[in-house]
Amino acid sequence: MHGVSVTILGSGSCGNSILIDSDVSILVDAGISCKELERRMTIVGKDPSRVEAVVLSHEHIDHTRGAQRFCAKYGVPAYGSDGTLSLTPLPRVKTISISNRRSLSIGGIEIRPFPVKHFAAEPKAFSIVAGHRKIGIASDLGSVNGRIVDEMAGSDILLVEANYDIDMLLTGTYPDFLKRTIKSDHGHLSNDDAGLLASKAACDRTERVVLLHLSKENNTPGRARETVGRKLKSAKKIPRLEITEHGGMNGPFDL
Ligand SMILES: [Zn+2]
Ligand SMILES: [Zn+2]
Repeated sequence: MHGVSVTILGSGSCGNSILIDSDVSILVDAGISCKELERRMTIVGKDPSRVEAVVLSHEHIDHTRGAQRFCAKYGVPAYGSDGTLSLTPLPRVKTISISNRRSLSIGGIEIRPFPVKHFAAEPKAFSIVAGHRKIGIASDLGSVNGRIVDEMAGSDILLVEANYDIDMLLTGTYPDFLKRTIKSDHGHLSNDDAGLLASKAACDRTERVVLLHLSKENNTPGRARETVGRKLKSAKKIPRLEITEHGGMNGPFDL
């Protein structure tokens, strides 16, 4: 059996994608172009032709930009909720609905989708088990609730959105309606929310918390690290904290 590794291929409003590499590989989201996905996989020594599926969290372009091209080129299916698939143009791609699935298995990688609040048709977050390792992925959600904490609990690695610093958002240049939307229950997670989720979900086996989807305008890596790190510390949790810069890659993290 292969080990398990997790690589952030892209993060932030310019495009999100996570590669999970085990006996087979899957992509969770494909928000950068097919060419760029291939280029970034090559940088970290990963083979795009090992990818057996693209699993989409929701239809926003920063999560789906390269999905059609990649799936068509490599002849692999796109998985997503009915809402996501109906709003993502995927000609010449086999699509598989996960709307009524509590779990699905792709080449031995078990994926549990669960619903989240975000301003999209039917968005999902995922807990994933590969080679006895658990990966929690919670990005693009406006609020944290008990269900999300439960689904993420027990993960070896937690990938959590830390979109904005509340002070930077409120004093920044975004128009008021956009500020309200981002910080609503259907928007994105603040650094404080990310810290709350990470500190509640992390346990002894959690080696790493990786922060994702940092806003270019309303956050900085330093602020995200400081806020989330403080929350983890006050909850007496000591996983390594990794920050993924806007537009950047992170990993591979071998589990
Ligand atoms: Zn989104
Ligand atoms: Zn997004």
